[in-house]
Amino acid sequence: MTTAAYLDSQNRLHRESVSGDCPHCGNTAHLSLLACPGFARLRADRPARIGIVLQCDSCHTPLFVRYRVRAWHDDRIEFHPHPEQMEHPPERFSYDTLPERVAAAFREALACHAAGLLQAFAVMCRATVQAVLEDQGERSRLRIFDQVAEVKALAGIDEATFAAIRRVLFEGEPVHGTTSVPLTRLQAAVLLETMKDLLYQAYVRRAKLQAALRLRQFPAAEPVRPTGDLTASRAAGR
Ligand SMILES: [Zn+2]
Repeated sequence: MTTAAYLDSQNRLHRESVSGDCPHCGNTAHLSLLACPGFARLRADRPARIGIVLQCDSCHTPLFVRYRVRAWHDDRIEFHPHPEQMEHPPERFSYDTLPERVAAAFREALACHAAGLLQAFAVMCRATVQAVLEDQGERSRLRIFDQVAEVKALAGIDEATFAAIRRVLFEGEPVHGTTSVPLTRLQAAVLLETMKDLLYQAYVRRAKLQAALRLRQFPAAEPVRPTGDLTASRAAGR
């Protein structure tokens, strides 16, 4: 949302754009105004930031939006054109096939990312990879290393971002006071997608393949009678 807005002395909020991307349903939708503080009160208090409540007309979820004030006038209050982003869309990931320790670490990583805590996010990504290594053995370290390199090649990730991701995932604990560079928001986004791909390759893909192969092997291991009597074949399989 890049809405340049101002509030006039009649308590009417003027917005340049009344639609935007909803962080809840992901649709670009009309955003109705639900609540805005009154002009007189704002003029009296002169807060640095002003919060309004919108509603996504697609999913009817309320959205809190916060603006910095750009200028105070006698007849209107001008808002900074870019509201501060308060709500981020939730990252969805299917944890079903992940071992509990891996899932727990990655859940926390996603929560840190959603809260904009990028260094905590990096630490939890590292903890997630550590949990994968403990689950799948040190041998899997090389495979994960190769997968990250593959993501770099496929997605055309720049060297600085690739180096940052490798540092987060594979190098030891950051030493304080050295050249430990914080992740940028963009690097964190790339790291997030890399993590999802790593976990997909390490668990989700394997589980899907195994399920597909079990289905194919079932008739060979337990020949089913041509009558197709499901109850009998199921009973035989137990
Ligand atoms: Zn919505």
